[in-house]
Amino acid sequence: MTQHQRLLTPGPLTTTERVKRAMLRDWGSRNADFIALNRAVLDRLVELIGGGDEHVAVPMQGSGSFAVEAMLGTLVPRDGKLLVMVNGAYGARMVEMARYMGRAVVAIEDPEDRPGDTRRLEETLAADPAIGHVAAVYCETTSGILNPIDEIARIAARHGRALLIDAMSAFGALPLDAARIRFEAVAASANKCLEGVPGMGFVLARKDALAAAEGNAHSLTLDLAAQHAAMVRTGQWRFTPPTHVLAAFHEALVQHEEEGGVEGRGRRYRENCRVLVDGMRRLGFQPLLEEALQAPIIVTFRMPRDPAFDFLQFYDRLAAKGFVIYPGKLTVAPSFRIGCIGALGADDMHAAMAAIEATLGELGVANSRP
Ligand SMILES: *Cc1c(COP(=O)(O)O)cnc(C)c1O
Repeated sequence: MTQHQRLLTPGPLTTTERVKRAMLRDWGSRNADFIALNRAVLDRLVELIGGGDEHVAVPMQGSGSFAVEAMLGTLVPRDGKLLVMVNGAYGARMVEMARYMGRAVVAIEDPEDRPGDTRRLEETLAADPAIGHVAAVYCETTSGILNPIDEIARIAARHGRALLIDAMSAFGALPLDAARIRFEAVAASANKCLEGVPGMGFVLARKDALAAAEGNAHSLTLDLAAQHAAMVRTGQWRFTPPTHVLAAFHEALVQHEEEGGVEGRGRRYRENCRVLVDGMRRLGFQPLLEEALQAPIIVTFRMPRDPAFDFLQFYDRLAAKGFVIYPGKLTVAPSFRIGCIGALGADDMHAAMAAIEATLGELGVANSRP
Protein backbone atom coordinates (compact mmCIF):
# COMPACT_ATOMS: atom_id res chain seq x y z
CA MET A 1 0.00 0.00 0.00
CA THR A 2 1.18 3.52 -0.70
CA GLN A 3 1.80 5.89 2.15
CA HIS A 4 -1.20 7.37 3.94
CA GLN A 5 -1.86 10.82 2.50
CA ARG A 6 -3.47 13.71 4.25
CA LEU A 7 -5.69 15.60 1.83
CA LEU A 8 -5.59 19.34 2.56
CA THR A 9 -7.89 20.03 -0.38
CA PRO A 10 -11.49 20.99 -1.16
CA GLY A 11 -12.21 17.29 -1.88
CA PRO A 12 -11.92 14.40 -2.08
CA LEU A 13 -11.03 14.50 1.60
CA THR A 14 -9.35 12.39 4.22
CA THR A 15 -11.70 9.86 5.83
CA THR A 16 -11.43 7.85 9.04
CA GLU A 17 -10.52 4.18 9.31
CA ARG A 18 -14.06 3.47 10.56
CA VAL A 19 -15.61 5.06 7.47
CA LYS A 20 -13.34 3.07 5.18
CA ARG A 21 -14.11 -0.15 7.05
CA ALA A 22 -17.86 0.39 6.63
CA MET A 23 -17.35 -0.38 2.93
CA LEU A 24 -16.11 -3.95 3.39
CA ARG A 25 -19.48 -5.51 2.69
CA ASP A 26 -21.55 -5.90 -0.48
CA TRP A 27 -25.16 -4.79 -0.12
CA GLY A 28 -28.07 -5.72 -2.36
CA SER A 29 -30.00 -2.55 -3.14
CA ARG A 30 -33.32 -4.30 -2.36
CA ASN A 31 -31.99 -5.77 0.86
CA ALA A 32 -34.06 -4.64 3.90
CA ASP A 33 -30.86 -3.74 5.80
CA PHE A 34 -29.77 -1.46 3.01
CA ILE A 35 -33.18 0.19 2.77
CA ALA A 36 -33.12 0.82 6.54
CA LEU A 37 -29.58 2.23 6.34
CA ASN A 38 -30.67 4.56 3.55
CA ARG A 39 -33.70 5.71 5.56
CA ALA A 40 -31.50 6.43 8.60
CA VAL A 41 -29.13 8.54 6.51
CA LEU A 42 -31.94 10.59 4.96
CA ASP A 43 -33.67 11.15 8.30
CA ARG A 44 -30.42 12.27 9.90
CA LEU A 45 -29.78 14.78 7.10
CA VAL A 46 -33.18 16.39 7.70
CA GLU A 47 -32.38 16.57 11.43
CA LEU A 48 -29.11 18.35 10.68
CA ILE A 49 -30.97 21.39 9.30
CA GLY A 50 -33.51 21.26 12.11
CA GLY A 51 -36.03 20.35 9.43
CA GLY A 52 -39.38 18.86 10.29
CA ASP A 53 -42.22 17.38 8.35
CA GLU A 54 -42.00 20.05 5.67
CA HIS A 55 -38.54 18.91 4.53
CA VAL A 56 -37.25 15.85 2.71
CA ALA A 57 -33.79 14.61 1.85
CA VAL A 58 -33.31 13.25 -1.65
CA PRO A 59 -30.00 11.51 -2.45
CA MET A 60 -28.32 11.75 -5.84
CA GLN A 61 -25.60 9.56 -7.32
CA GLY A 62 -22.43 11.31 -8.46
CA SER A 63 -20.22 14.12 -7.22
CA GLY A 64 -21.63 17.22 -5.56
CA SER A 65 -22.25 19.00 -8.85
CA PHE A 66 -24.76 16.33 -9.85
CA ALA A 67 -26.84 17.22 -6.78
CA VAL A 68 -26.59 20.95 -7.57
CA GLU A 69 -27.62 20.37 -11.18
CA ALA A 70 -30.50 18.15 -10.04
CA MET A 71 -31.64 20.87 -7.61
CA LEU A 72 -31.63 23.62 -10.25
CA GLY A 73 -33.10 21.46 -13.01
CA THR A 74 -35.91 20.12 -10.85
CA LEU A 75 -36.92 23.19 -8.88
CA VAL A 76 -36.57 25.99 -11.43
CA PRO A 77 -39.54 25.65 -13.81
CA ARG A 78 -38.81 25.40 -17.53
CA ASP A 79 -40.19 28.89 -18.06
CA GLY A 80 -38.72 30.18 -14.79
CA LYS A 81 -35.88 32.65 -14.33
CA LEU A 82 -32.93 32.14 -12.03
CA LEU A 83 -30.65 34.73 -10.44
CA VAL A 84 -27.24 33.41 -9.34
CA MET A 85 -24.90 35.18 -6.91
CA VAL A 86 -21.42 34.60 -8.36
CA ASN A 87 -18.11 35.25 -6.59
CA GLY A 88 -16.21 32.15 -7.60
CA ALA A 89 -16.15 29.02 -9.73
CA TYR A 90 -19.09 27.29 -8.04
CA GLY A 91 -21.47 30.20 -8.55
CA ALA A 92 -20.25 30.43 -12.15
CA ARG A 93 -20.90 26.70 -12.55
CA MET A 94 -24.56 27.18 -11.55
CA VAL A 95 -24.92 29.82 -14.28
CA GLU A 96 -23.39 27.38 -16.76
CA MET A 97 -25.76 24.61 -15.61
CA ALA A 98 -28.79 26.87 -16.07
CA ARG A 99 -27.61 27.70 -19.62
CA TYR A 100 -27.10 23.99 -20.40
CA MET A 101 -30.62 23.18 -19.31
CA GLY A 102 -32.06 26.16 -21.15
CA ARG A 103 -33.30 28.11 -18.13
CA ALA A 104 -33.31 31.91 -18.24
CA VAL A 105 -30.50 33.06 -15.93
CA VAL A 106 -28.93 36.30 -14.74
CA ALA A 107 -25.94 36.73 -12.42
CA ILE A 108 -24.77 39.22 -9.83
CA GLU A 109 -21.00 38.99 -10.13
CA ASP A 110 -18.48 40.02 -7.51
CA PRO A 111 -14.71 39.52 -7.27
CA GLU A 112 -13.56 36.30 -5.59
CA ASP A 113 -12.26 38.13 -2.52
CA ARG A 114 -15.55 39.98 -1.91
CA PRO A 115 -18.78 38.53 -0.46
CA GLY A 116 -21.88 38.54 -2.67
CA ASP A 117 -23.33 42.06 -2.89
CA THR A 118 -26.69 42.00 -1.12
CA ARG A 119 -27.56 45.58 -2.04
CA ARG A 120 -27.45 44.63 -5.73
CA LEU A 121 -29.49 41.52 -4.96
CA GLU A 122 -32.15 43.71 -3.39
CA GLU A 123 -32.20 46.10 -6.38
CA THR A 124 -32.23 43.32 -8.97
CA LEU A 125 -35.13 41.49 -7.35
CA ALA A 126 -37.09 44.72 -6.99
CA ALA A 127 -36.53 45.51 -10.69
CA ASP A 128 -37.23 42.07 -12.16
CA PRO A 129 -40.39 40.25 -11.04
CA ALA A 130 -39.68 37.43 -13.54
CA ILE A 131 -36.92 36.09 -11.26
CA GLY A 132 -38.56 33.28 -9.28
CA HIS A 133 -35.44 31.68 -7.80
CA VAL A 134 -32.20 32.94 -6.30
CA ALA A 135 -29.20 30.61 -6.08
CA ALA A 136 -26.23 31.27 -3.78
CA VAL A 137 -23.13 29.50 -2.52
CA TYR A 138 -22.74 29.40 1.28
CA CYS A 139 -18.95 28.96 1.45
CA GLU A 140 -17.44 29.67 -2.00
CA THR A 141 -14.66 27.10 -1.97
CA THR A 142 -12.83 28.86 -4.82
CA SER A 143 -11.39 31.32 -2.31
CA GLY A 144 -12.78 29.99 0.99
CA ILE A 145 -14.99 33.04 1.45
CA LEU A 146 -18.12 33.00 3.58
CA ASN A 147 -21.12 34.51 1.79
CA PRO A 148 -23.80 36.35 3.82
CA ILE A 149 -26.33 33.55 3.46
CA ASP A 150 -28.63 34.82 6.26
CA GLU A 151 -28.90 38.22 4.61
CA ILE A 152 -29.40 36.70 1.14
CA ALA A 153 -32.18 34.50 2.56
CA ARG A 154 -33.87 37.48 4.25
CA ILE A 155 -33.84 39.49 1.03
CA ALA A 156 -35.14 36.62 -1.10
CA ALA A 157 -37.93 35.96 1.43
CA ARG A 158 -38.86 39.66 1.62
CA HIS A 159 -39.31 39.67 -2.15
CA GLY A 160 -41.19 36.36 -2.14
CA ARG A 161 -38.55 34.51 -4.17
CA ALA A 162 -37.35 30.97 -3.52
CA LEU A 163 -33.74 30.41 -2.41
CA LEU A 164 -31.56 27.49 -3.57
CA ILE A 165 -28.31 27.09 -1.63
CA ASP A 166 -25.14 25.32 -2.68
CA ALA A 167 -23.94 24.52 0.84
CA MET A 168 -21.52 21.84 -0.35
CA SER A 169 -18.38 22.86 1.53
CA ALA A 170 -20.17 24.18 4.63
CA PHE A 171 -22.84 21.58 5.35
CA GLY A 172 -22.25 19.77 8.63
CA ALA A 173 -19.68 22.26 9.95
CA LEU A 174 -21.31 25.68 9.65
CA PRO A 175 -24.82 26.39 10.96
CA LEU A 176 -27.73 26.05 8.54
CA ASP A 177 -30.99 26.04 10.42
CA ALA A 178 -34.24 25.82 8.48
CA ALA A 179 -36.03 27.68 11.27
CA ARG A 180 -33.71 30.68 10.86
CA ILE A 181 -32.87 30.67 7.15
CA ARG A 182 -35.74 30.32 4.74
CA PHE A 183 -34.78 28.27 1.70
CA GLU A 184 -36.54 26.07 -0.83
CA ALA A 185 -33.64 23.63 -1.13
CA VAL A 186 -30.03 23.05 -0.12
CA ALA A 187 -27.54 20.84 -1.96
CA ALA A 188 -24.49 19.21 -0.37
CA SER A 189 -22.46 16.02 -0.58
CA ALA A 190 -21.26 13.09 1.52
CA ASN A 191 -17.60 13.87 1.09
CA LYS A 192 -17.05 17.39 2.40
CA CYS A 193 -17.57 18.35 6.05
CA LEU A 194 -19.60 15.19 6.72
CA GLU A 195 -16.43 13.17 5.94
CA GLY A 196 -17.99 10.33 3.96
CA VAL A 197 -16.40 9.06 0.77
CA PRO A 198 -17.10 10.66 -2.62
CA GLY A 199 -19.85 9.29 -4.86
CA MET A 200 -23.14 10.79 -3.73
CA GLY A 201 -24.72 14.12 -2.96
CA PHE A 202 -28.13 15.06 -1.62
CA VAL A 203 -30.69 17.81 -1.74
CA LEU A 204 -32.79 18.87 1.23
CA ALA A 205 -35.94 20.39 -0.17
CA ARG A 206 -39.27 21.68 1.00
CA LYS A 207 -41.82 18.96 0.36
CA ASP A 208 -44.36 21.34 -1.19
CA ALA A 209 -41.75 22.71 -3.61
CA LEU A 210 -40.69 19.23 -4.68
CA ALA A 211 -44.33 18.17 -5.19
CA ALA A 212 -44.92 21.26 -7.35
CA ALA A 213 -41.77 20.52 -9.36
CA GLU A 214 -42.97 17.32 -11.00
CA GLY A 215 -42.30 17.44 -14.74
CA ASN A 216 -39.79 20.32 -14.55
CA ALA A 217 -36.59 18.31 -14.90
CA HIS A 218 -34.57 18.51 -18.07
CA SER A 219 -32.91 15.18 -17.35
CA LEU A 220 -34.25 11.73 -16.50
CA THR A 221 -31.38 10.76 -14.19
CA LEU A 222 -31.20 14.16 -12.44
CA ASP A 223 -34.93 14.38 -11.73
CA LEU A 224 -35.14 14.86 -7.96
CA ALA A 225 -38.94 14.71 -7.92
CA ALA A 226 -38.83 11.28 -9.59
CA GLN A 227 -36.01 10.10 -7.29
CA HIS A 228 -38.08 11.16 -4.29
CA ALA A 229 -41.30 9.60 -5.62
CA ALA A 230 -39.52 6.27 -6.15
CA MET A 231 -38.09 6.40 -2.64
CA VAL A 232 -41.50 7.05 -1.11
CA ARG A 233 -43.02 4.23 -3.15
CA THR A 234 -40.34 1.55 -2.75
CA GLY A 235 -37.73 2.82 -0.30
CA GLN A 236 -35.20 2.42 -3.10
CA TRP A 237 -33.11 4.64 -5.32
CA ARG A 238 -33.84 4.78 -9.03
CA PHE A 239 -30.88 3.17 -10.80
CA THR A 240 -27.96 1.45 -9.08
CA PRO A 241 -27.28 3.13 -5.72
CA PRO A 242 -23.67 3.66 -4.60
CA THR A 243 -24.16 1.07 -1.84
CA HIS A 244 -20.66 1.20 -0.35
CA VAL A 245 -20.69 4.98 -0.41
CA LEU A 246 -24.03 5.02 1.41
CA ALA A 247 -22.76 2.57 4.05
CA ALA A 248 -19.67 4.73 4.55
CA PHE A 249 -21.86 7.85 4.75
CA HIS A 250 -23.98 6.23 7.45
CA GLU A 251 -20.86 5.56 9.53
CA ALA A 252 -19.58 9.09 8.84
CA LEU A 253 -22.87 10.53 10.15
CA VAL A 254 -22.55 8.42 13.32
CA GLN A 255 -19.05 9.83 13.84
CA HIS A 256 -20.32 13.34 13.12
CA GLU A 257 -22.92 12.95 15.87
CA GLU A 258 -20.32 11.49 18.28
CA GLU A 259 -18.19 14.57 17.70
CA GLY A 260 -21.05 16.83 18.72
CA GLY A 261 -22.74 17.38 15.37
CA VAL A 262 -22.38 20.66 13.50
CA GLU A 263 -21.12 22.42 16.63
CA GLY A 264 -18.36 19.90 17.34
CA ARG A 265 -17.30 19.51 13.73
CA GLY A 266 -17.18 23.29 13.30
CA ARG A 267 -15.04 23.63 16.43
CA ARG A 268 -12.41 21.17 15.14
CA TYR A 269 -12.28 22.90 11.76
CA ARG A 270 -11.95 26.34 13.34
CA GLU A 271 -9.01 25.05 15.36
CA ASN A 272 -7.46 23.47 12.23
CA CYS A 273 -7.89 26.77 10.43
CA ARG A 274 -6.31 28.73 13.27
CA VAL A 275 -3.24 26.46 13.37
CA LEU A 276 -2.98 26.74 9.58
CA VAL A 277 -3.31 30.51 9.30
CA ASP A 278 -1.04 31.24 12.30
CA GLY A 279 1.58 28.77 11.06
CA MET A 280 1.57 30.08 7.50
CA ARG A 281 1.74 33.71 8.65
CA ARG A 282 4.71 32.80 10.83
CA LEU A 283 6.41 31.44 7.68
CA GLY A 284 5.68 34.72 5.89
CA PHE A 285 2.70 33.67 3.76
CA GLN A 286 -0.25 35.99 3.35
CA PRO A 287 -3.88 34.80 3.26
CA LEU A 288 -6.00 36.33 0.49
CA LEU A 289 -9.01 37.09 2.65
CA GLU A 290 -9.42 39.31 5.66
CA GLU A 291 -10.23 37.32 8.77
CA ALA A 292 -13.92 38.25 8.99
CA LEU A 293 -14.60 36.82 5.50
CA GLN A 294 -12.63 33.59 5.96
CA ALA A 295 -14.66 30.39 6.46
CA PRO A 296 -12.86 27.64 8.45
CA ILE A 297 -12.99 25.36 5.40
CA ILE A 298 -10.15 26.18 3.02
CA VAL A 299 -7.64 29.04 3.01
CA THR A 300 -6.23 30.77 -0.07
CA PHE A 301 -2.64 32.04 0.20
CA ARG A 302 -1.00 34.47 -2.18
CA MET A 303 1.85 33.01 -4.20
CA PRO A 304 5.25 34.12 -2.80
CA ARG A 305 7.21 36.41 -5.10
CA ASP A 306 10.58 34.80 -4.32
CA PRO A 307 11.69 33.15 -7.62
CA ALA A 308 12.92 30.13 -5.63
CA PHE A 309 9.27 29.34 -4.86
CA ASP A 310 8.27 27.01 -7.70
CA PHE A 311 4.69 25.89 -6.93
CA LEU A 312 4.92 22.55 -8.76
CA GLN A 313 8.10 21.66 -6.86
CA PHE A 314 6.51 22.80 -3.61
CA TYR A 315 3.40 20.72 -4.35
CA ASP A 316 5.34 17.55 -5.35
CA ARG A 317 7.69 17.71 -2.38
CA LEU A 318 4.79 18.19 0.06
CA ALA A 319 2.92 15.29 -1.54
CA ALA A 320 6.01 13.12 -1.11
CA LYS A 321 5.87 13.99 2.60
CA GLY A 322 2.21 12.89 2.69
CA PHE A 323 0.41 16.24 2.39
CA VAL A 324 -1.70 17.07 -0.64
CA ILE A 325 -2.52 20.75 -1.15
CA TYR A 326 -4.42 22.41 -4.00
CA PRO A 327 -3.64 24.93 -6.72
CA GLY A 328 -5.54 28.23 -6.74
CA LYS A 329 -8.43 28.84 -9.08
CA LEU A 330 -8.56 32.62 -8.72
CA THR A 331 -8.58 35.35 -11.29
CA VAL A 332 -7.83 38.14 -8.77
CA ALA A 333 -4.33 36.93 -7.76
CA PRO A 334 -1.87 34.03 -8.23
CA SER A 335 -2.51 31.74 -5.28
CA PHE A 336 -2.75 28.25 -3.85
CA ARG A 337 -5.10 26.69 -1.32
CA ILE A 338 -4.81 24.59 1.82
CA GLY A 339 -7.92 22.97 3.24
CA CYS A 340 -8.74 22.41 6.91
CA ILE A 341 -11.63 19.97 6.52
CA GLY A 342 -11.78 16.17 6.46
CA ALA A 343 -10.71 13.70 9.15
CA LEU A 344 -7.78 15.82 10.33
CA GLY A 345 -7.02 17.53 13.61
CA ALA A 346 -4.67 20.14 15.01
CA ASP A 347 -1.81 17.58 15.15
CA ASP A 348 -2.13 17.02 11.41
CA MET A 349 -2.10 20.75 10.76
CA HIS A 350 1.03 21.18 12.93
CA ALA A 351 2.65 18.32 10.99
CA ALA A 352 1.68 20.04 7.73
CA MET A 353 3.32 23.27 8.93
CA ALA A 354 6.54 21.39 9.73
CA ALA A 355 6.49 19.77 6.26
CA ILE A 356 5.93 23.16 4.61
CA GLU A 357 8.77 24.75 6.57
CA ALA A 358 11.12 21.89 5.59
CA THR A 359 10.06 22.16 1.94
CA LEU A 360 10.72 25.91 1.86
CA GLY A 361 14.22 25.13 3.16
CA GLU A 362 14.79 22.49 0.44
CA LEU A 363 13.71 24.95 -2.25
CA GLY A 364 15.85 27.72 -0.80
CA VAL A 365 12.91 30.09 -0.39
CA ALA A 366 14.14 32.97 1.75
CA ASN A 367 10.90 34.92 1.81
CA SER A 368 7.30 33.70 1.46
CA ARG A 369 5.77 37.15 1.14
CA PRO A 370 3.71 37.81 -2.00
C1 LIG B 1 -17.07 20.73 -3.83
C2 LIG B 1 -18.10 21.71 -4.20
C3 LIG B 1 -19.09 21.42 -5.16
C4 LIG B 1 -19.18 20.12 -5.89
O1 LIG B 1 -18.04 19.81 -6.57
P1 LIG B 1 -17.86 18.32 -7.14
O2 LIG B 1 -16.48 18.38 -7.70
O3 LIG B 1 -18.88 18.11 -8.17
O4 LIG B 1 -18.02 17.38 -5.98
C5 LIG B 1 -20.06 22.38 -5.39
N1 LIG B 1 -20.06 23.55 -4.74
C6 LIG B 1 -19.13 23.87 -3.82
C7 LIG B 1 -19.21 25.18 -3.13
C8 LIG B 1 -18.11 22.95 -3.53
O5 LIG B 1 -17.20 23.27 -2.60
